[in-house]
Amino acid sequence: MNLDAFRAAIDGIEVEDRPHIVRQKSRDFFWYSPILKRQLDGFVGDLVVSPKDEDEVIRILAAAYAHDVPVTVRGGGTGNYGQAMPLQGGVVLHTNKLTGITALHEDSICVRAGTVIEHIEHHLRENGREIRLFPSTTASASIGGFIAGGSSGVGAIRWGGLRNPANIRRVRLVTMEAAPRILDLTGDDIHKAAHAYGVNGVMTEIELPIDPAVDWVDVMITTPDFISANTLAISLGEDEGVLLRMLSTFAAPIPELFFQRFRPFVGVGRGVIAAMVRRDDLPAFESHLQNWPTAELVYRADLADPALRLPAVFEMAWNHTTLRAIKTDPSLTYLQMMFPRDAMAQTITALDQHFGDEIMLHFEYTRFSGVVSPVAMPIVRFTTEERLEALIAELERDFGITVFNPHRVTLEEGGMKRTDISQLEFKRQTDPKGLMNPGKMIAWTHPDWQPEAGKSFLFQE
Ligand code: FAD
Repeated sequence: MNLDAFRAAIDGIEVEDRPHIVRQKSRDFFWYSPILKRQLDGFVGDLVVSPKDEDEVIRILAAAYAHDVPVTVRGGGTGNYGQAMPLQGGVVLHTNKLTGITALHEDSICVRAGTVIEHIEHHLRENGREIRLFPSTTASASIGGFIAGGSSGVGAIRWGGLRNPANIRRVRLVTMEAAPRILDLTGDDIHKAAHAYGVNGVMTEIELPIDPAVDWVDVMITTPDFISANTLAISLGEDEGVLLRMLSTFAAPIPELFFQRFRPFVGVGRGVIAAMVRRDDLPAFESHLQNWPTAELVYRADLADPALRLPAVFEMAWNHTTLRAIKTDPSLTYLQMMFPRDAMAQTITALDQHFGDEIMLHFEYTRFSGVVSPVAMPIVRFTTEERLEALIAELERDFGITVFNPHRVTLEEGGMKRTDISQLEFKRQTDPKGLMNPGKMIAWTHPDWQPEAGKSFLFQE
């Protein structure tokens, strides 16, 4: 890597080299995981560059290619698996200047990749439209970071995850080559770059499908226990007369311990459902609840005292649940896993009996191929790394649960535990020197890698 030659070649582009800023921009929410915190704490880039347009991105990548400088893209830096951390130093390419709406059509919007997601939603609402999916970090996450590093979020109960082809129209990508190319990926090709942690190019523009704006109302319901919260949640999720944007469930004691400002509503020892309901459907929603005499509608944002200035319910859900838990008790961490819908009650009971308060359950409901399905994001009481690895192994082996391990920095180990061949092939074409976010794709250097229970793969510098 020849950093001096690289700097000379990108003369005129904004560069930051003050060590404390470079360190700050080299970190994300990796510290959610005690394992990643130990493994990644020391990794830092050499420079931060902030291109203001696509031409500057092309210049940066051409110069990085010529001088063998690794490039790790950073949007809002809210990823929680160390995705945006430069494991081999080099350049952090910050997309904070690549912002703005480039086109608004009847059913889609084109935005630069660094645009903060909440800004897209605000712009759309002014035009009577809304975005389909957003992470609970919408106020600070970029749309490029969501597509490259996220998976799903608010909107999942209606639209599923980012893997659903209905949720991204087009991704524009600049490649890492001697003469960088601009590719516009559509259809199945989008998945070569989506959820690839930016290992095969820099996204500069995204086109997203949009829908007519809906007036959503935040609500909370309590139930006698977590099993009944989920039985009710599934029946609400399947009710075609009630349109929902979010449907989340929480086992006690999560709400009473971690949702401080909602404590007066959620009570103690109750299961809790948090949802976003179309305002016009509130009467149908309330009559649905009439069939569930033990359930209680405890909170409606439209009826709550505005002086309370309560946060949006989505800031209790998804990985905000984890954030609130860790802020209350730093010894807590989390897992992400598919939960068996057909054996839900038995599995909840079995986990409760086996793990007690080592696991506190919390589900986000997602529509997978039309089926309302629970994705579990439990809070876990951390003791040792060995115990956390053993816990994951037990969940998979003894309870038939698929864990998407959030304590791993590589694409393979965090996701489906195998290489995505189309992403690997694509990387060979778009990043032949392997300079994009090195260390995040095992198959790039170890094509024969096989997962080993309890062992994580961290590239050596
Ligand atoms: P970053 O963290 O900056 O980057 C994420 C990855 O994308 C990195 O690998 C980076 O290199 C790459 N990248 C960024 N921009 C580009 C680009 N232009 N081109 C190529 N690669 C790029 N995730 C969800 O999916 N759903 C949630 O509901 C959710 N809730 C969260 C709640 C909390 C409290 C926290 C801390 C995290 C949560 N996350 C969630 C994870 C994360 O916030 C989201 O995935 C978010 O969208 C990431 O966006 P970002 O701009 O912060 O990305």
